[in-house]
Amino acid sequence: MSLEEYKGVYIFAQQVDNEISTIALELLGKAKDLAKDLDEKVTAILCGSEVGSLAGKLGEYGADRVIVVDDPELKEYRTEPYAHALASVVKEFKPEILLVGATAIGRDLGPRVSARIHTGLTADCTSLEIGDFPINAIPGQEQKHNQLLMTRPAFGGNTIATIACPEFRPQMATVRPGVMQKIAPIADANPEIINYNPGFEKNDCYTEILKVVKEVSNVANIADAKILVSGGRGVGSAENFKLLDDLAEVLHGTVSCSRAVVDNGWKPKELQVGQTGQTVRPHVYFAIGISGAIQHVAGMEESDIIIAINKDENAPIFDVADYGIVGDLNKILPELTKSLKAALEAKGQTA
Ligand SMILES: Cc1cc2nc3c(=O)[nH]c(=O)nc-3n(C[C@H](O)[C@H](O)[C@H](O)COP(=O)(O)OP(=O)(O)OC[C@H]3O[C@@H](n4cnc5c(N)ncnc54)[C@H](O)[C@@H]3O)c2cc1C
Repeated sequence: MSLEEYKGVYIFAQQVDNEISTIALELLGKAKDLAKDLDEKVTAILCGSEVGSLAGKLGEYGADRVIVVDDPELKEYRTEPYAHALASVVKEFKPEILLVGATAIGRDLGPRVSARIHTGLTADCTSLEIGDFPINAIPGQEQKHNQLLMTRPAFGGNTIATIACPEFRPQMATVRPGVMQKIAPIADANPEIINYNPGFEKNDCYTEILKVVKEVSNVANIADAKILVSGGRGVGSAENFKLLDDLAEVLHGTVSCSRAVVDNGWKPKELQVGQTGQTVRPHVYFAIGISGAIQHVAGMEESDIIIAINKDENAPIFDVADYGIVGDLNKILPELTKSLKAALEAKGQTA
């Protein structure tokens, strides 16, 4: 493998029902940073059926180029045709870096493609940057420059590992939704569009979709919330979450929780923040009766403002909090909700 032939930062632009998934825009935001460091271009790979019209949006969010693989076989996500499409694009265009969202689709697709093209993939990265590898030079070992340094929690979140793929290309990583930030749309973006179809021949691995049944959920999407009122085991019971509901209502926020709360059956898994839950980045994150375990913090530490309420002044959550209130949440929350409601009403903003 001649590594020099591989150029540019590529992302897999996931679409579902011909709508670009937010993760694709987040990956473009990160790809732009990486491409700037490498003095390269950003390419989005868009696979689907009759998806050409979506290319413009990818340009708006940072793609210099969009490779469109448009074929009826790609109408709904199926492992085999999508893996064939993406692996074929890699073989043809030779990206240096390929980012895929760690969504249900990306988790299925990424590893299969990396195996087909014989390269490494680092899953669930929380940070990506360009740098030297090994990070600190080791006597007698070549230090390679401009490598993709892929950082992710390891050993159940007890340590953070930085991984590189210096011998193979592309360097592949999956990134969970909510971890990277999309850029503000570029008004006059005009990405280059390349139509590419590798041809699709059905084989034994092609599945047939008989029926698509959409899950109907009335649970809030915490990843999109601007204000999250998050509760932990310290809340004490499912019923006591009423205190958090009241605060969330006044602030037009959304209630979320720690894993302990889900394990206790107080709230559904969709509301869990953290390493095995969702990664969130709201403007304000209330951590109420949450100790601040590393696996929880991994999912919320990028919030703009973190406000912790805990009766234990030594709780680790205070290490990441911008504001901390030490005390019993049962006493603090009703007072806080009442004061905020009065303040908002005084300002003429209905609570
Ligand atoms: C592989 C792995 C993945 C994990 N993934 C996740 C994840 O995605 N998300 C996650 O959250 N956890 C995750 N965990 C679990 C994590 O390690 C912690 O066990 C969990 O976050 C603890 O939840 P908690 O803070 O609600 O409960 P606790 O750790 O029990 O903390 C409760 C806190 O409430 C405070 N408190 C109690 N009563 C009051 C009161 N009346 N007023 C004010 N404060 C009070 C206590 O002082 C304490 O700090 C994971 C663990 C592993 C091993």
